[in-house]
Amino acid sequence: MLSVEEARHRILASAKLTGVEVVALEHAAGRVPAAWELTAARDVPPFANAAMDGFAVRAADLPGDLRLVGEVVAGAGALPVVGRGEAVRIMTGAPLPPGADTVVPVEEAAETGDGRVSLAAAEQGRHVRPAGHDTRAGDRLDLPRAPLGAGTVALLASLGVGELAVRGRPVVAILSTGDELIAPGVPLGPGQIHDANSAALAAAVGETGGEARVLSRAADDPTVIEALLADASRWADLVLASGGVSMGRTDHVRTAIERLGALAFWKIAVQPGKPLAFGTIGDTPVIGLPGNPVSALVTFELFARPLIRGMLGLAGDGRLHLPARLEETVAKDVARRAYVRVVLTRSAVGLAARSAGGQGSAQLRGLAAANGLLAIPEGEPVGLAGETYDATLLGEIA
Ligand code: AMP
Ligand code: MG
Repeated sequence: MLSVEEARHRILASAKLTGVEVVALEHAAGRVPAAWELTAARDVPPFANAAMDGFAVRAADLPGDLRLVGEVVAGAGALPVVGRGEAVRIMTGAPLPPGADTVVPVEEAAETGDGRVSLAAAEQGRHVRPAGHDTRAGDRLDLPRAPLGAGTVALLASLGVGELAVRGRPVVAILSTGDELIAPGVPLGPGQIHDANSAALAAAVGETGGEARVLSRAADDPTVIEALLADASRWADLVLASGGVSMGRTDHVRTAIERLGALAFWKIAVQPGKPLAFGTIGDTPVIGLPGNPVSALVTFELFARPLIRGMLGLAGDGRLHLPARLEETVAKDVARRAYVRVVLTRSAVGLAARSAGGQGSAQLRGLAAANGLLAIPEGEPVGLAGETYDATLLGEIA
């Protein structure tokens, strides 16, 4: 059986960057820039301006009783000149008028009522933001290699960037297979269960920055499954099937990949998720996720998430990994690496991890309650209370 790293390495080798599209900056949050570097076209701010509401003066005149000769507000075009012995009332963000070199905040000024203002001594340049205070024309800026957050959007806006080239969202076809599956919201007949994977994988794809296209559920019919996979592989960047990859008589996904393209591998030393199948149809990667919903989502996290990120030009899984101390012993298969669904809490010595609930691969309660996955290495018979393991942070820590 392949190790998690080996499997991930082989899956990531199939990642091709998506195309570039241009979006308005207000729609750019969460998108991934197509280029990480940009050169500032101009100084930000473009002109020296006041950092405080106060009085623009010449520092050489301070301390002093100065004559008020005008006012400048933010956005002002025409500016009064500040001569020797003069002051101009100024608002935060207003251009520093010619002649002035310093701003004295209103809190440190006493207006005498006769058109004069009394000001204490101040260091030259105080409360003045010079042109280029934040960025200088020609500066090379390195954007964080991550989906755009509000801070970077603000920076780009300040630079005058109104639209941005971003990576297209990888289009991910989602195909749940199984005769027993019924859409949530529809009453169950005998032997039927609600399809958890279509909605769950669509959510996971969206969270990762992809665009999910959920196909109609497929019965366990090899002809139907092959037709759907063949079609999806033509328009999708990635096909995620679930179910039908085990040893059952009705498991057809793996053989469909083999028939339509090439199966790269089947079975990984991971718990849950061992029967994962990976291959390509044409150039399109196809992951056959196990049907059990916990297995499907855990293996999505381990393999599909880094692949979708790779298509966006992002490295790794984008998660915070921290050591956490396991508070209770948990059972596992010695041969496989277990990803235990845990609740992580803060403790005096770092993070503490407790099982989030039943660890069966069909037990969604624990998955939904978990804010982390704790990796217990292959070769170890249990996750041992008191031991520290690598935790992947999936959610918030209460
Ligand atoms: P399979 O991989 O098809 O052998 O399915 C393994 C288990 O997962 C079976 O108990 C299936 O009923 C269940 N299962 C498969 N697909 C889904 C799904 N989309 N939603 C919920 N359970 C599923
Ligand atoms: Mg099945």
